[in-house]
Amino acid sequence: MDSQAVKDYALSLGFTKVGIAEAISGEEAQRLQDWLDRGFHADMAWMANPKRQDIRQMLPGVKSVISLALNYYTPHLHQNDRAKISRYGWGRDYHKVLGKKLQKLADWLIAQTGCGARYYVDTAPIAEKAWAERAGIGWIGKHSNLITKDYGSWLFLGEVLTTLELQPDRRHRQYCGTCTRCISACPTQAIVAPFVVDARKCIAYHTIENRSETLPPEIVPHLQNWVAGCDICQDVCPWNQRFAQVTPIGEFQPYSANLNPPIQDLIELTPAQWEQRFTASALRRIKLKQWHRNAKAVQNTQD
Ligand code: SF4
Ligand code: SF4
Repeated sequence: MDSQAVKDYALSLGFTKVGIAEAISGEEAQRLQDWLDRGFHADMAWMANPKRQDIRQMLPGVKSVISLALNYYTPHLHQNDRAKISRYGWGRDYHKVLGKKLQKLADWLIAQTGCGARYYVDTAPIAEKAWAERAGIGWIGKHSNLITKDYGSWLFLGEVLTTLELQPDRRHRQYCGTCTRCISACPTQAIVAPFVVDARKCIAYHTIENRSETLPPEIVPHLQNWVAGCDICQDVCPWNQRFAQVTPIGEFQPYSANLNPPIQDLIELTPAQWEQRFTASALRRIKLKQWHRNAKAVQNTQD
């Protein structure tokens, strides 16, 4: 099949960007190993799954990785006197929105060619940002998120792996240049070197993934009202400030309860409210106890 036909179909499904990479492991596998060796993945054991380093274990006979991106930016702003929730969690769960489109693309490829194909959105140990860079969608910025020249970094990523041999795109160049804004802006100095984030220092990791009773005392004073994720390093990035575009996808419009909720509301969140509020939300990953812990920690910084 012609690569352009695949891309045209993907774009017709509403994907923001699409690129293709040859399914061979590259130097990013070594980069990941170095990051793991330094313990920067904290207790995110899935990052150390050896499959992350070898895409061929995901689909026998895989030849191509189709990398796909979906823009989720909306023009709403965070409020400094309220609890802050990362943009990725404002609207409908991206796994559902992206997953539906990826499935359509995989089904179409199989129906057209009889190839093997599988799709993934955070559902497998795939180094998705590295594949997106290799597929020419954008580059991994010094804050370790994928940046595109035409939309900034407010993009969800997914992949379709296929046994089809497709014409690959060229790896994207890196356009951070001499900029270090994200490194300077990070309140916990979690970006320990350009392109290297130590999750053990990162507010996003602690508010979402850390399941301990309390947040580390060295992190709490720097929360700046973030209770779910942290967008600081992306907010200061000039590529976002200049090139973010409003998504046409209605499902990514914020649920009103997720946009700047009062801190006290989260401290008092009941199990029934948690259930109802996060039914179709990626924020469901944050359990009720964590919401209470995070919101209380934020409140303590204000006393
Ligand atoms: S998400 Fe926040 S804490 Fe983590 S690296 Fe970015 S600015 Fe730092
Ligand atoms: S803030 Fe600057 S250094 Fe950081 S990711 Fe954006 S362009 Fe790169």
